[in-house]
Parts: sequence; C-alpha cells; structure tokens
Amino acid sequence: MILSGAGISAESGINTFRDSGGLWEKYDINEVATIDAWHKNPSLVLEFYNSRRKQVLNAQPNLAHFKLVELEAYFDVQIITQNIDDLHERAGSTNVLHLHGEILKSRSVSSDKELFAIEQDLKLGDKTEKGEQLRPHIVWFGEEVPAMTQAELMVRSCDILVVIGTSLNVYPAAGLAYICSNHAKKYIIDPQKITTQSDDFIAIQGTAVDSVPSFIEELITNHSK
Ligand code: NAD
Repeated sequence: MILSGAGISAESGINTFRDSGGLWEKYDINEVATIDAWHKNPSLVLEFYNSRRKQVLNAQPNLAHFKLVELEAYFDVQIITQNIDDLHERAGSTNVLHLHGEILKSRSVSSDKELFAIEQDLKLGDKTEKGEQLRPHIVWFGEEVPAMTQAELMVRSCDILVVIGTSLNVYPAAGLAYICSNHAKKYIIDPQKITTQSDDFIAIQGTAVDSVPSFIEELITNHSK
C-alpha cells in the first residue's frame, strides 16, 4: 500500500502546499480550495485550478513514480494518493485511488457520478448537456471525501504501508496512516522529519527521487513473494 502526497510530485515541478515556496504562500486556501470559496467567488476558484491543470499538463512523472510501477511485478500494489495530478498513472501504475479528485476531470455542480476529461480551462458558463455548471473534480475543504470508505478497507488489509511525501496534516486522509493491522510494516519517506501519531514507522529521510528507488530495490529483495 502506497499512500502518496504532494511531495512525490515536487521533483516533477508541481508545488506542494505547505513547503516554503508552496502554493499556500501565493494563495489563501479559504479563497480558492473550499466549497465556500466556490460559492463566493467561482471565477477565482476556476482560475486557480486552471493554473494547476496547466502545471500538471506540463509536468512529467519522476523516477519515484516510475520506480513504484516496478513493484507491481512482485507485490499486489495499491496506490492511494492525495494528489490531483495524474503522474502515477502516466508512469504506468495500474491501481490508483485519488482521494481528493483529479484535476484533469470535471463534473457537474450537483453530482460527482459522471466525470468528464478536460485539458482546457474551465470557465463559468461551461455546462453539462443538462445545463448544469461544470466544476473541477476536486474534493474541496468542507466537502466529504467519497473514496474514504474504500480507502480505509484497502489500508486495513495491507501488509506493507509506504507513506511518501505527505505532511500527514490533511484529515481524514492522514488518518489512513494509522489504521493498518499490527502486523503491517510501515515506512515513511520524506525529506522532513514527519511527526506521526504512532512510533512504529521506519522513517527514511530524503526526497522521493533520491530515496524511493533504493527503497524499492530493498523491498523487492527482502519481501517479495
Ligand atoms: P503537503 O504540502 O502538506 O506536504 C508535502 C510533504 O511533501 C511535506 O511533508 C514535504 O516535506 C514533502 N516533500 C517536499 N518535497 C519532497 C520531495 N522532493 N520528495 C518527497 N517529499 C517531499 O501535502 P499533502 O500532505 O499531500 O497534503 C496537501 C493536500 O494538497 C493534499 O490533499 C493534495 O490533494 C493537495 N495537493 C496536491 C498536489 C498534487 O496533486 N501534486 C500538489 C499540492 C497539493
């Protein structure tokens, strides 16, 4: 089980939220990434996500994304990502669950059941065939995380949990790090020392590109079926 966050895409040139130089320094989260912001100023929210989409389209998967694909030859791999980019998929990973939505998809304001692929900017007035305004397929602060139940089931049954590039600050997603069974081995890869709620994580301090490849090699050697 891989639980990834913004850090795994940092070396692909996609800003994280909380690091210095991160997105929060340029935008106020309450103005662009909440359901209230959408109701108050949808144009600003669309502008913010249009710019995120351009950044994702210009980015490429990095060595950490690619190395995770190799694991699939040896393990049953499930990736749960908080990221809204598609870099895991473009690298070739086959089982990716996006907890917080996907920037290259849109949906109507009233339902997340039907999703539409988008690469262009989304504007006010862009509507579904039924005449409903389209919004980015993003789970905003203040909204339920629909994939949470599915994610919890997956994590509870895993044997190895590898957390990569997440500050474990955003709940309920961060809670996933703490619900696997007692027998599961738990690793956390991040350049910063992440404070976890339990002390049974093996911490590997380093960036994703520097640390994931050798970690994966070791995992394959030591644990593969
Ligand atoms: P976060 O910004 O809170 O934390 C990022 C973590 O990545 C930090 O712990 C940081 O030390 C680490 N990091 C920085 N550079 C790294 C590197 N090169 N290699 C490995 N780790 C590195 O991000 P989060 O915990 O994922 O939570 C933020 C929320 O923001 C998520 O819900 C996500 O939806 C959203 N987000 C997504 C993207 C994306 O899709 N790429 C980008 C920014 C934010």
